[in-house]
Amino acid sequence: MTKFLGLDLGGTNIKICVLESIDGHCKEIEKSTIPTDAENGPEYVVNLLVHIAKQYVLEKYSDISAVGVAVPGIFDHELGEILLFPNLPGNWKHQPMKKPIEDACNRPVSIINDARAFALAEANAGLAKGKSPVACLVLGTGFGGGIIIDGHVHMGSTLGAGEIGHQIVNADGALCGCGAQGCAETLTSAQALSTLAGAKSPEEAYKRAIDGDVQAIHAFSESAKWIGIAIANVMVVLAPELFIIGGGVAQSGDFFLDLIRVEANKRAKLVPENSIQIHAASLGVYAGSIGAALNGAINAGAQFNLISIT
Ligand SMILES: [Zn+2]
Repeated sequence: MTKFLGLDLGGTNIKICVLESIDGHCKEIEKSTIPTDAENGPEYVVNLLVHIAKQYVLEKYSDISAVGVAVPGIFDHELGEILLFPNLPGNWKHQPMKKPIEDACNRPVSIINDARAFALAEANAGLAKGKSPVACLVLGTGFGGGIIIDGHVHMGSTLGAGEIGHQIVNADGALCGCGAQGCAETLTSAQALSTLAGAKSPEEAYKRAIDGDVQAIHAFSESAKWIGIAIANVMVVLAPELFIIGGGVAQSGDFFLDLIRVEANKRAKLVPENSIQIHAASLGVYAGSIGAALNGAINAGAQFNLISIT
């Protein structure tokens, strides 16, 4: 019997989960959330992660054998340092993360991008279980992504594969946080959607759209067009069995998903008609922390026959 800790660092909250493995059956035994208070800066946030990891590993569950952390950006895989967190305040470049947590709790620590963690969880414990390849999209503040092949995250030669939202869909479009021009993210982010809808938030835009507001409906249609193009491109190149959409904006339900389904299917001409399967995420807001824990476990050599999340 052994346990694995997963921490999902977000701009607002840190999601925590503990998985337990008994005879190859892995299940979730605890989950909780605490505020990130990201405005206090990188050092504070890393110290908070260290504090949580210590509390769980040294006080609550001494049989936690590995720790996984999901992060909202890109990092140096070798050094375990952050390279870019576009949506968290402060200068995160070269901020150590892996080593301070490892030193504090004396367990192996693995870092993974949060969208890739989401994808790993959905493909192993969610709707995409047993499917391959699977493409996951995380629509929220940004537009993250992840590719799963045979249950494993496809990292590619750069260890950064799966950035579905950073496909260039409009060559002369706006500058993206990644430095390129016209990425799908620039056209579909929560901010882009809200601005186009004339709303303060995607939630307000959604409410207005459901009430028949023409400007809000147009904003969702536009966003669905760019997401549909991004999905059609991935379909033609990779032909995933399933696309999973998660993140805050995706909570807009079938209204938004149906628009995306139509756009994607009408644009992918080299695949059978209406063959693109697009579904909403099934694991809820803890998917990232579950994926982080699974990644930590897998990197520590754990093997599971069955993963169940309640
Ligand atoms: Zn980009």
